[in-house]
Amino acid sequence: MSIPYTYATGAAEQSFVDGNAIAGILSEIFTSDLTARGCRCGGCGVVEPLARALVYLNCPGAVVRCPHCTAVVLRITTTPTGRWLDLGEGAALCLPVEE
Ligand SMILES: [Zn+2]
Repeated sequence: MSIPYTYATGAAEQSFVDGNAIAGILSEIFTSDLTARGCRCGGCGVVEPLARALVYLNCPGAVVRCPHCTAVVLRITTTPTGRWLDLGEGAALCLPVEE
């Protein structure tokens, strides 16, 4: 179960949930539950279970951020042409969406 959070930064209020929020999306892409697996942040290098990540859902798709430095570690977007898994540095993998 995801835990909702809200905090204010300047004029905008940000809300996010924990990494368990993308368990369903990931289960459609991968065959096993990845939320307990380690996820390394490219910003600070910390490895944490994906379930501890900060997940922002109030945007196109899901943006997953590091719980320590808030760097983006993963983006997932579903479009009419497929589900895009952003691998960083402009690289992305397009996977078919199961109907
Ligand atoms: Zn980090």
